[in-house]
Amino acid sequence: MSKKTTNEEHCSFCGRPASQAGMLLAGLNGYICHDCADQAEQIFKESGQPQNSKFEIHNSDIPKPIEIKNFLDQYVIGQDMAKRVLSVAVYNHYKRLKYNQDHGDKNDVEIEKSNIVMVGETGTGKTLLARTIARLLKVPFCIADATTLTEAGYVGDDVENVLVRLLQAANYDVAACERGIVFIDEIDKIARKSENTSITRDVSGEGVQQALLKLLEGALVSVPPEGGRKHPEQKLITINTRNILFICGGAFDGIERAIASRLNSNVIGFKGDETRAELDRENMLQYVQPMDLKKFGLIPELVGRFPVLTALQPLDCEALRRILTEPKNALVKQYQELFHMDDVTLDIPAETLDLVVDRAVKYHLGARGLRSIMEGIMTDLMFDLPSLAKGSTFTLTPDIATAKLKL
Ligand code: ADP
Repeated sequence: MSKKTTNEEHCSFCGRPASQAGMLLAGLNGYICHDCADQAEQIFKESGQPQNSKFEIHNSDIPKPIEIKNFLDQYVIGQDMAKRVLSVAVYNHYKRLKYNQDHGDKNDVEIEKSNIVMVGETGTGKTLLARTIARLLKVPFCIADATTLTEAGYVGDDVENVLVRLLQAANYDVAACERGIVFIDEIDKIARKSENTSITRDVSGEGVQQALLKLLEGALVSVPPEGGRKHPEQKLITINTRNILFICGGAFDGIERAIASRLNSNVIGFKGDETRAELDRENMLQYVQPMDLKKFGLIPELVGRFPVLTALQPLDCEALRRILTEPKNALVKQYQELFHMDDVTLDIPAETLDLVVDRAVKYHLGARGLRSIMEGIMTDLMFDLPSLAKGSTFTLTPDIATAKLKL
């Protein structure tokens, strides 16, 4: 501590006077400056000791399924089935938390977690649904990509690092983290290649599934607060995963074949009795069942941990068209806003939107294609945007759009 030479107040930790350290907070017998308070907070976080959590669920915090669905409707087009399933699952997650909070260990009924798997082609809105739910939630939320995950000890991201991300989202509040929601994308990519168990270890697939299973079952997991590999002298934080809700998404390419063969039919041109004739052959995903995931290569124990399974619809032209203009943050609205900031009105006629949708359908990228196509058209236009006359209107005709796409 530096020597006090004047009557000026000093930080009792670093000794700096208020004239150097800035504002000082007074305690019973001393003062603390902003820098020392920051450092103290960091030390508390890294200590791995549970922080005093203010995290509590009140009845008024629990959004009703209809409210969750209405919120999703503002950002996500279509996908009604998935929205309803997600809304109920999130609602139940809150109720379960509240129940455990009220009853502690003396609960008569064990309300199980309703972990969810969403099956749907790429670009149909799985991640968007998860992200949109995150906006609404009052619990920590994080997104992880299954393709980057590996079993502990292999090069890549340990499965447990998913929890580090959740802990960071919870601002290192362990109690809040233990009630959070994790979205794991591309879960289909960790499927094992054949349904038969192999004696040789499958690094990318089954091992990761086993590691994930541990998290899903509810375990005490020690994680390094900053992520990365664990090493002996590092402080670890223990997280109980019992109350963490897991939502997974995957395209499960080719799963239609498993569904079709289960339904004892053929994807291409089956004929048969009346019930089979009622099947919608264009969209077999909607009939997905847990056993199809097993057939695809997810281990049965893992499938068993996901009681809720839902499918997303492929997006047709009409849905793509609506995606361009309707959601709160629709692409067209975003570009119009950017133009507006330069005092230019952007007009995109219906024929131009049709052209963009046609291209997206051709690329088979779902709504994901819309963005790259629009970017392809708009980048060049936005280069010239600041030079356009203020107060003018720019009409993006199909001819201009086609010309820009050819560049
Ligand atoms: P997935 O996770 O199914 O591969 P994403 O949710 O990442 O697909 O979708 C990619 C992008 O496409 C999103 O950022 C969003 O802009 C758009 N999108 C996809 N599906 C929808 C939808 N149903 N409604 C609105 N936008 C969508």
